[in-house]
Amino acid sequence: MYIFLNNRIVPASEAHVSVYDHGFLYGDGIYETMRAYQGIVFMLRRHLGRLGRSASLIRLRLPEERFIEDAVHETLAANGLSDAYVRITFSRGKGPIGLDPDLCGDPTFVVIAERFREYPAACYERGMKIIFAQTRRNLRDAIDPRIKSLNFLNNILAKIEAKERGADEAVMLNSQGFLTEGTVCNIFFVSHGILCTPSVDAGILDGITRDIVIGLAQKSGMEVKEGMFRPDDLLRSEEVFYTNTTAEVMPVGLAEDVAFEAGEIARMLHTLYREEVEAYMRGQGK
Ligand code: PLP
Repeated sequence: MYIFLNNRIVPASEAHVSVYDHGFLYGDGIYETMRAYQGIVFMLRRHLGRLGRSASLIRLRLPEERFIEDAVHETLAANGLSDAYVRITFSRGKGPIGLDPDLCGDPTFVVIAERFREYPAACYERGMKIIFAQTRRNLRDAIDPRIKSLNFLNNILAKIEAKERGADEAVMLNSQGFLTEGTVCNIFFVSHGILCTPSVDAGILDGITRDIVIGLAQKSGMEVKEGMFRPDDLLRSEEVFYTNTTAEVMPVGLAEDVAFEAGEIARMLHTLYREEVEAYMRGQGK
């Protein structure tokens, strides 16, 4: 396996980062996760846009977008990958101990690409199990969830709860008890035929998949409500699913102890999402 590290491709065995890297010492950095279909990185520009936003929110200077884009393609090519998981990471870089970002020189830049492993078909047929975590989502005024940051302990604590309770995913509430999002996904439910999802104001990462799915639902004539919802609103709904770049549209079969069918709306939106991916690929010459 080959990794892009700072300015060149190196074998994974030589891809080392300093113990003085502030990403390692303090979680000071940002990242993006993308998915490549037949060599085309879906919505690459949008992911780079969000990376740029994360960088600006933590006052991190990134190289030119073109350089990052080329590094992504070089990493895919070096590994001979076409259907892939791709992760871009930028940390504050190497510097002496101390929080001051100015202690660091250049950011550390890493691109990892791995063969994409599809979720088992059974996940989409039966749906995943979710719980509501005791761990609350980071306050927007503390660590804004719109920063896709290396400081991921908030989500990891919720993930630990999910694992301890035999669930696949944990949905976090905000400090007022409203639904926010999963540890690596956005949550949706269908209530009286209306597609509901927590608003960005609830304190979430505004997922790119979430945005596409909202658009597809509206285009197909569904009413979509982005708002402040309680766990009970979800538990009383007709259908639940979550979205992210890798799982796309994933049905929920069990939320706490309430069972759901892997429903029609999730299936329809997943089909439309796949069509969107194909249209994107055609637009990029595939
Ligand atoms: N929310 C969180 C906390 C995430 O980490 C992710 C993706 O990793 C998402 C939502 C979904 O974002 P996207 O659809 O852009 O993958």
